[in-house]
Amino acid sequence: MKEFTLEQISALAALVESDRFSTGQSNRELHRHDISPHYGTLPAGIIWPKSTDEVADILSWCYENNVPATPWGAGTSTEGNPVPTFGGLVINMSRMDKILEIRPGDLQVDVQPGVLRKELNRKAGRHGLFFPPDPGADATIGGMIANNASGVQTVKYGATKDYVMKLTMVLPTGKVIHTGCKAHKSSSGYDLTRLFVGSEGTLGIVTEATLKLCGIPSHRLAATINFNDLESASGAVAALIGSGLGPAALELLPPGLINLMNRKKNLNLPEVPSLFCEFHGISKTSLQETADLTKELCATCGASGFQFGIEEKDRNELWRARHEAWETIHQAHPKKETLIVDAAVPISRYPQMIVFSQNLVDENHVDGYVFGHAGDGNLHVVIAGDPKDKSEWSTIEKINHLIVEKAVELGGTCTGEHGIGIGKRQFMKLEHGDSYQLMRQIKELIDPKGLMNPGKIFM
Ligand SMILES: Cc1cc2nc3c(=O)[nH]c(=O)nc-3n(C[C@H](O)[C@H](O)[C@H](O)COP(=O)(O)OP(=O)(O)OC[C@H]3O[C@@H](n4cnc5c(N)ncnc54)[C@H](O)[C@@H]3O)c2cc1C
Repeated sequence: MKEFTLEQISALAALVESDRFSTGQSNRELHRHDISPHYGTLPAGIIWPKSTDEVADILSWCYENNVPATPWGAGTSTEGNPVPTFGGLVINMSRMDKILEIRPGDLQVDVQPGVLRKELNRKAGRHGLFFPPDPGADATIGGMIANNASGVQTVKYGATKDYVMKLTMVLPTGKVIHTGCKAHKSSSGYDLTRLFVGSEGTLGIVTEATLKLCGIPSHRLAATINFNDLESASGAVAALIGSGLGPAALELLPPGLINLMNRKKNLNLPEVPSLFCEFHGISKTSLQETADLTKELCATCGASGFQFGIEEKDRNELWRARHEAWETIHQAHPKKETLIVDAAVPISRYPQMIVFSQNLVDENHVDGYVFGHAGDGNLHVVIAGDPKDKSEWSTIEKINHLIVEKAVELGGTCTGEHGIGIGKRQFMKLEHGDSYQLMRQIKELIDPKGLMNPGKIFM
């Protein structure tokens, strides 16, 4: 659906205040793509609801009028997840941005879905608490729930799915349901909360969530550890995890990316394969012991350099540079798009996966950077290229394909954290086999007309 009729425009305009519905060209263009190379179709209009009741009215109108509906958070996805593929209505959730209640005694918070992650952490921080899942981008909580986002601290604290206790969902028909509870454990019935987490807006819209919070650690220790080759660096990962030292972050960085970070972010890091890690503890003494053990362990894995006890200011710069790795690569390759491989494998297979991916990048002479959340066995290969250059782009897609096939063969997944969106739909059958059909049936049961974020997850 490319354009609304005048009748449809006045029906939608009647559902919200006048400044919260638009059919303007620039708004439509802005909601046509995320940060991926996937450009969808132009939506016919955008609507900004402010309450569960408004979302229910909007979805029930879409259902009755057969209008595709695509939820939108901050638009920072990497697989075309919030990009409309059949036009229709984009439901932008950014104005449902209230932190409803922080309950420090329960380590919980109730939020609307448009709350931004950094804002939540600013407010929770006043109570000595934080929400650990940390994608580099300042994403909305609704978008993080829908994509089951994670980040550098997932190795210690888990992914978004581990923090969602209770959801208010508006189903594609406009019906409102509540899932989960505020108790820290429950074995009551099917876990519908977990079904909606990671469903990428294909089963309905999150309009409220109860999340767990954690206490802010009193002491932190950041470190960089250098190696002579990527295989040794990635090989040290399983040893570090298996040692029980419990890193709060464990990231693998290749020399090429460190070189870009040094140049663009004014850092002075050794340009060799490296692990960036962080430990959280209750005292400086306990962290010093952890540092000593880590150094000893990494030396046995072939490490050639250690920088521990990095000052708070330098630590923040280090992690900011890591979080902005994608932007740094983008700036280094202006006018190019980036395809981001997001496979994950069991950590014992991580070195094999890293070497396999680096060889593909080298053999095909593409501008690719192999790095990732090593502690989770999650690797990213960011490859810059021009989608209009058919030959170059098909090489890049072939690399993506080969890496995903290898990851699945090793017992892993096509996406550790970015979701399926448009880009990874082709791998769903390969990864899930017969379960793929059951997922389809669940989708058809909840969204019989196929109007909720159509063209995502399923081909
Ligand atoms: C520089 C950069 C670094 C990143 N690093 C990471 C990383 O380390 N780890 C990681 O996991 N991700 C990462 N991402 C990807 C991205 O930030 C996450 O996927 C994030 O969860 C997207 O949130 P968003 O608010 O931008 O949602 P959007 O991109 O707007 O939407 C994401 C999905 O959620 C759906 N949706 C949005 N709101 C709702 C709602 N209320 N109810 C139901 N569905 C909804 C949309 O339809 C879409 O399918 C990164 C992105 C960038 C730009």
